[in-house]
Amino acid sequence: MEELELYNEIGKNIKNKRKELGITQEELAKLTNYSVSFIANIESITFQSFSIAALNNIAKALHTNMISLLPKVSNYEIIRKKLKCEHCEYETEIPIELSDFLKSIKEITHKKVRLTCPTCNKKIVI
Ligand SMILES: [Zn+2]
Repeated sequence: MEELELYNEIGKNIKNKRKELGITQEELAKLTNYSVSFIANIESITFQSFSIAALNNIAKALHTNMISLLPKVSNYEIIRKKLKCEHCEYETEIPIELSDFLKSIKEITHKKVRLTCPTCNKKIVI
């Protein structure tokens, strides 16, 4: 990913998150102690670079973390998580997004998520 594209992607994610929370650029500037023009430049498609510390401050102000504001990784770089059947030797890898999704289901429903093992057909508890 080109540097310009990278900053623009993060800027877009910041803008979306800010709008989701119903916060104006002025309010975000106040929360982070940055100027309104700095925030506006980050969100626009102009080349506005910023530090990791700035990204962290903005993420905190938006009640999120830096990772969630970074561009999504391509299919070639998907981070995978190991999934192992406790009954047999079956082991597979699932994308981290899927793993996080299953985790959030677990948190919302307060129930264990069960998948069927393709080899032994027993339940794999996540
Ligand atoms: Zn199994």
